[in-house]
Amino acid sequence: MDGTRRGFFRAAVTVAGAAAGAAAAPGLAQGQEHQAIPSDLTLRVKSLESLLVDKGLVDRVALDRIVDAFETQIGPRNGARVVARAWVDPAYKKRLLTDASTAMEEIGFHRHQGEDIVALENTARIHNLVVCTLCSCYPWPLLGLPPVWYKSAPYRSRAVIDPRGVLKEFGVDIDADVEVRVWDSTAEVRYLVVPERPAGGERLTEAALAALVTRDSMIGTAKVTLDVTKAPA
Ligand code: FE
Repeated sequence: MDGTRRGFFRAAVTVAGAAAGAAAAPGLAQGQEHQAIPSDLTLRVKSLESLLVDKGLVDRVALDRIVDAFETQIGPRNGARVVARAWVDPAYKKRLLTDASTAMEEIGFHRHQGEDIVALENTARIHNLVVCTLCSCYPWPLLGLPPVWYKSAPYRSRAVIDPRGVLKEFGVDIDADVEVRVWDSTAEVRYLVVPERPAGGERLTEAALAALVTRDSMIGTAKVTLDVTKAPA
């Protein structure tokens, strides 16, 4: 295998074919050969990809670029940069809360699916929590791929029924006088929570602030905290 995604798939199909046609692959002890067989899902994806390429509906190079983007370029650090900019630049924050899709493009992040992104500001009075009750809609350009729990049935149902209980399980206690707002993502509209800026970080740079922002804080299942003993005086 050559280490690339394409090489992986080539090897996957080769190994699967060999395993199907022989009792044991050469050089492997009895029972070990099956451990190299990819999952049904992987093989199904490969079959679908081959079919789409053969029919001229997708381009292999384009597919590799998309996968590479999600593996190496897109993730929660993108969203963290947006949040940190909003924390240090009130004018940017205003633009973000008015039109997040356009504001994130100022920092170089673009929509991939035609979806709109809406930024929700957490304050001392309001805590926002994001869910997709139907499936797993998520602000991919800013947060990357969703965590497994975000896609799970218990989170998708309970975040709506008992948001304070869910938040408690994430270790977030919301005072009774704070309003909890739950936002249901769709294919058309995805949400980014702008968490509260932690107290004590007034002297931190924008980059240092971005480093504090976690993925979960931008979904609403965590708060951003700062160890003031480590913050610059
Ligand atoms: Fe969804």
